[in-house]
Amino acid sequence: MIVVEPYCRPPGHAGPMLLVHGGAWNIPDVECDAHLAGLQIAVETGKNALQAGNSALQVVAEVVAHMEGDGAFDAGCGAVLTRSGKVELDAGIMDGTARHFGSVAGIQHFRHPIKIALSVLENGGRTFCFLSGAGAEKFADASGFSRVKNENLVCLREQQRYDSLAAQAAYHTSHPFLADEDVPRGTVGCVAIDQHGKLAAATSTGGTPFRPDGRVGDSPMPGAGFYASPDGAASATGWGEAIASVSMCFAAVQQLSSCSAEDAAEAAIRTLGLQIKNEDGQGATGGIILLSATGEGGFAFSTPRMARGGWYAGGDPWVRI
Ligand code: ASP
Repeated sequence: MIVVEPYCRPPGHAGPMLLVHGGAWNIPDVECDAHLAGLQIAVETGKNALQAGNSALQVVAEVVAHMEGDGAFDAGCGAVLTRSGKVELDAGIMDGTARHFGSVAGIQHFRHPIKIALSVLENGGRTFCFLSGAGAEKFADASGFSRVKNENLVCLREQQRYDSLAAQAAYHTSHPFLADEDVPRGTVGCVAIDQHGKLAAATSTGGTPFRPDGRVGDSPMPGAGFYASPDGAASATGWGEAIASVSMCFAAVQQLSSCSAEDAAEAAIRTLGLQIKNEDGQGATGGIILLSATGEGGFAFSTPRMARGGWYAGGDPWVRI
């Protein structure tokens, strides 16, 4: 089943607006409060930054950086662990007006990959847009970001989760999104439109639990885990190999030329499930947030739950699961 929700500025409202997500999966009841609290601060952070006149690009970076530092989500200091028990972080950000992105993958020693991705966007000058592994970390050093030890990014909750997953012989990156397993995900993302009508999108993740070292999913891939153009902005979460295979965020933004954000979000999640199946024939699942240049927003997800929220100028901030 696909849950679809519209979230639109009322007619006549032209101010800034944002949508956030904190992952789409079977979020257990005991984790809901922490997710909601983290989302609430993220939405307030974005609201304040937009009201202060910051650009959509700055705002999505700030909102996602907050969620990377929160600990409730599968990003930054709450990240799940790879098969060898390490944290590897991926993030991507895109300026819709310039159609310019910055991404990093395999970050092991920095708390805020989204800030490094923003720095790639701002300083790469399109001679490079996507840095990975040691090269990305060298760039982060040169850009003045502070290093931390990888073990300092490992939280107790995920260490314990890793210990129990390590006992399972066969584990597939699709499992968390297809089965009712108690395995945390919680990729984070934000899309925003600023007071000048400019759009941006950002996504950050700790990846899927117990994946092979070096595996990179959709989250830092432009068009897959995030995308922004002058017409719309999107951020995705879910089974990364599947989302990348259908270029889900690009497809959703393209759809905005012919249908509402709500319908485009629904179509993106439906296509994901129809076109990509796991070895048992189950359709891929995930979630998406989508915002058009006209202030029409849409949420869609095919997982049991999705952590989400939003705000527009003149309205009240909200969060829900
Ligand atoms: N899409 C992410 C990945 O595959 C995981 C997630 O959204 O939770 O790395």
